[in-house]
Amino acid sequence: MKLVALQCPVCNHSLPAGNDDLVVACTNCRNAILLDEQGLRPLPVTFAQPRPGSTPTAWVPVWLFQGQVTLHRRETQGGNAEKEARSFWSQPRYFYIPAWDITLQSLQQISLPMLRAQPQFSPLPAGAIPSTPFQPVTVSAEDAQKLTEFLVLELEVDRQDWLKSISFDISLGQPVLWILPQSQGNLAVDETG
Ligand SMILES: [Zn+2]
Repeated sequence: MKLVALQCPVCNHSLPAGNDDLVVACTNCRNAILLDEQGLRPLPVTFAQPRPGSTPTAWVPVWLFQGQVTLHRRETQGGNAEKEARSFWSQPRYFYIPAWDITLQSLQQISLPMLRAQPQFSPLPAGAIPSTPFQPVTVSAEDAQKLTEFLVLELEVDRQDWLKSISFDISLGQPVLWILPQSQGNLAVDETG
């Protein structure tokens, strides 16, 4: 990976960033810095409270979108989970898209159970921001948005029936970037929802 020498726009500290990094943490002032064509600027992020009793070993970025899914048509060849599906999508749902450098398979393993469980996170107070920098963001908000459609499809295929065809729309709100604690490679977030 090629590292580019950049300077934090808030504190002028050097900011090591890889080619694919879109948002990085400044190790000095701890701000999240967005790197794009328009230059470098701070991006508001929210850190989540770790699960009680856990000791975070890393911090990872996750895009959070609220989305309203409208199911137009859902046809099956056997079984029928239509009622369950309509009930799940009858209200806006949160989509959680890992934004750090992981495989598509790991992304699916994290985001699908979260879509089902709809966990709510509690923000860390400003004074408690960890000194460990979070993993750089390598998935753009636009790419994360595209993945929401794939997740709806995955969730519907996974229901206890034989899905033949489906048609739906998603209306998504603005994404927010959360930084979640990990302990020994697994998310260790205080889920209050
Ligand atoms: Zn800085």
